[in-house]
Amino acid sequence: MSALSRWILLAAALGAALVLALVLVGALAGPAWTAAAEQYFDPDFLSRARAYNRGRYLLFALGQALTLGLLALGVARGWHRQVAAAIEGMVGPRPLLAVALFTALLLFALRAAGLPVGLARLALDHRYGLSTQPLGLWLSDWLKGLAVEAAVLIPLVTGLFWLVRRWPQGWWLPASGGLALYLVAASSLGPVVVDPLFHRFTPLQDPALAGEVRDLARRAGVPADEVLVMDASRRTRRVNAYFAGVGRTRRIVLYDTLLSAYDRRQVLLVLAHELGHWRLGHIRRGLGLGILGGAAGLWLAQRLLAGAGPRPGDPSQVAVLTLFFLLASLAVLPVQNLVSRAFEREADRFAIALTGDPAGMAALEERLGRDNLGDVDPHPFIRAVLFTHPPVVERMEAALRSP
Ligand SMILES: [Zn+2]
Repeated sequence: MSALSRWILLAAALGAALVLALVLVGALAGPAWTAAAEQYFDPDFLSRARAYNRGRYLLFALGQALTLGLLALGVARGWHRQVAAAIEGMVGPRPLLAVALFTALLLFALRAAGLPVGLARLALDHRYGLSTQPLGLWLSDWLKGLAVEAAVLIPLVTGLFWLVRRWPQGWWLPASGGLALYLVAASSLGPVVVDPLFHRFTPLQDPALAGEVRDLARRAGVPADEVLVMDASRRTRRVNAYFAGVGRTRRIVLYDTLLSAYDRRQVLLVLAHELGHWRLGHIRRGLGLGILGGAAGLWLAQRLLAGAGPRPGDPSQVAVLTLFFLLASLAVLPVQNLVSRAFEREADRFAIALTGDPAGMAALEERLGRDNLGDVDPHPFIRAVLFTHPPVVERMEAALRSP
């Protein structure tokens, strides 16, 4: 491996190690909540939520360390070359078929390595009464997820290696174009092709509520004709909602757990927040940032692969590339979440302006934090690395401060 390739991998590994160290310090530090948290939540709740979330953070760190450690060990020991040679011995001089098989094998090995941590996470959620998902359903979700990943990743990686073999110097540029197309297609088709494999979506039944939703959407200036209810209660007691899709597949999805337990005013506040994401173009803006970041990653990956082995586009380089992208995505997670939290604050402000109900928003946040056993006032390192949304206490105080 060339000196430059080593430096690129080392930089990604240092970034990833730093992020994991921050998570560990934040998870193992003593109770960190502030006086503000004690104003809204009792100490019993805070301790219980702290214990649950500490388990989640430690399992996250363990899962990352296991996957990355195994992959790094394999690459350092040259296992990837042995596996590639064995595959080529089987399929003969058909390098792209060897790439496809290598990718399938690596995907399966990494997911299998992560399986115990996934099961531990399920057990944790059951112990704290958050999960309603039977083991059989969890396993069938896991298998379906693996099948979807294989169906998407194997052709993508094989196509990428076709480019690498054809243009060893300039492949990153057409690959960035391909990534842009893929990300747009995935955001637009995911909600209509992939999500229905896991959940059932039905239109909002309650005609009075549907009327109010249309009214709110009109006032938000959004053509929100798609508001769907998801059968989340088959898997979880968590309460949530989200906005997904691009163009004609845009929709707001409400968990059935929200509709069954929250009153109309609270449901409309949740909707107002999601309408904010829609109106402010957060998916579009997120996609733009993802494409820029992906192009930067592919540019670095070209320099990495050029010095990583004797033949550019060798099937064994799938492992080197995977290691690089997994390390790099962990290293940039704090930046990604910084952007995500900014979007969430914008959507909150939009919802408060639209409904004129800051006190209702603060009360909603408090209840969501309680029902979801949230880490309502986390350690600053945990907030910086893992929080896609501002923590509950922060959102409550922002709402109460708003004019
Ligand atoms: Zn949001």
